[in-house]
Amino acid sequence: MNYDYDLFVIGAGSGGVRASRIAASYGASVAIAENTYLGGTCVNVGCVPKKLFVYGSHFSEDFADAKAYGWNIENRGFDWRRLRDNKTREIERLNGIYESLLENAGVALKLGTARLEDAHTLVMEDGTYTAKYILVATGSWPSVPEFPGDEFVITSNEAFYLEEFPEKVVVVGGGYIAVEFAGIFAGLGAETELIYRGNLFLRGFDHGVREFVAGELREKHIRLNFDTQVQGIEEREGRKCLLLGDGTTMDADLVMYATGRTPNTKDLGLETVGVELSKRGGIVVDDYYQTSVPNIYAIGDVIDAVQLTPVAIAEGMCLAGNLFSERTRQKIDYENIPTAVFCQPNIGTVGLTEEQAVERYGEIDVYQSEFKPMKHTLSGRSERTMMKLLVNRATDIVVGAHMVGPEAGEIIQGIAVAIVAGATKTQFDKTIGIHPTAAEEFVTMREPRA
Ligand code: FAD
Ligand code: NDP
Repeated sequence: MNYDYDLFVIGAGSGGVRASRIAASYGASVAIAENTYLGGTCVNVGCVPKKLFVYGSHFSEDFADAKAYGWNIENRGFDWRRLRDNKTREIERLNGIYESLLENAGVALKLGTARLEDAHTLVMEDGTYTAKYILVATGSWPSVPEFPGDEFVITSNEAFYLEEFPEKVVVVGGGYIAVEFAGIFAGLGAETELIYRGNLFLRGFDHGVREFVAGELREKHIRLNFDTQVQGIEEREGRKCLLLGDGTTMDADLVMYATGRTPNTKDLGLETVGVELSKRGGIVVDDYYQTSVPNIYAIGDVIDAVQLTPVAIAEGMCLAGNLFSERTRQKIDYENIPTAVFCQPNIGTVGLTEEQAVERYGEIDVYQSEFKPMKHTLSGRSERTMMKLLVNRATDIVVGAHMVGPEAGEIIQGIAVAIVAGATKTQFDKTIGIHPTAAEEFVTMREPRA
């Protein structure tokens, strides 16, 4: 049977764009549909604008620290609209780059919403297309629980475009987005509180890291309200009044919910075609991203596995190679995915947490170091850095590395190569440090923690 395209991708985000470009590079005829913004979440309302805001928010500390280094800098205040609009300009530039990347790769870009009519047919506003293979890469969307007053909250989507910068913010949630945005709001000058339903945020991260970060955020005057539930929100004279589980109230100018993201699977025609969905609405796939309908595949946030841009990209590349290249079929190894949380200071982590390492290997050695970064010997700032290496005692292999400190993401990316390669603690010890850096601590920790 003749189809219009070999591959039709729904969603021009991190995963979809990469899959379509790589598929085209193998000679496939490819089309991609996008209904909101080229580059998807990461470029428009995720990683990129978030990191720009993190940079922006750190200047308040940099100005203060500069004094001890001899600089007389007067902080003349912060102009939210300038940061917001400069960020938006950069995002628009990136949207253009994504368009030319697709064009240069020979991928046909279809602006609009795509919906499946049958296993090989897609309907869009401007017509119907057929394809041999269909890839669903529609990403995810912020999910906010339903409660009285939920109409008064914003999500990260809106945080990037606020008309006014708030004086007081409450961030609800205890995952990546909540802690990153608490840091952004606080650094830009808002009085900031975080509300989390459990007893310690960042569930899933190393326990010691979570406690250390909580201490650091408190030092930066971010109020952390753990074991706290929001019952409802009322609006009073333009301000939000949160009614909490213990009967007390909390006021704010802005309430931002960061309580997870739901896969974008609604109105795609998936149920009609017979694509199986999980309870949370994610597309169920096998190790090769194949759904329950053999010619339909799915990658990225929509499969509700690991919601990270480099993972969506890796999945897109892997799938395009499996479908269209001569090489043998491959699958992705989900062990040892490094990740960073851009709270301030950053968390960088790869491999097992201490709790997981004990559970898996029983006997482990923990090498841990906490210190004041050299920069703060002069600045006097109380911020500290933490590093931790977890070693399987039986094999000497380093099975986890964690850091909380400036540029932890940059440092852990390098350490991740060693861990993926199966490096031993002896090999870490043999490696000569770069002095003076914080990172050298990773190759100079000699005594395991008691
Ligand atoms: P997306 O990038 O979301 O792309 C999906 C695309 O599909 C969208 O453009 C959407 O408009 C389009 N679409 C949906 N339905 C249709 C349809 N029916 N027809 C046509 N088009 C459709 N990850 C990191 O690794 N590092 C970070 O620092 C980081 N920071 C983040 C910060 C925030 C605030 C958020 C929200 C996320 C962050 N992430 C980060 C996660 C990262 O953005 C996602 O994991 C990644 O974008 C997922 O890529 P994807 O291709 O699956 O989906
Ligand atoms: P996360 O899944 O990381 O965190 C969600 C948080 O909300 C958890 O603390 C969870 O609590 C809490 N929560 C969930 N439901 C409710 C509820 N009904 N009421 C109160 N609290 C609730 O999601 P995020 O929204 O922070 O981010 C989505 C994903 O995007 C991340 O998981 C990550 O994969 C990606 N991302 C990556 C970034 C990076 O790489 N730096 C940055 C930002 C996002 P509990 O733990 O108790 O379940």
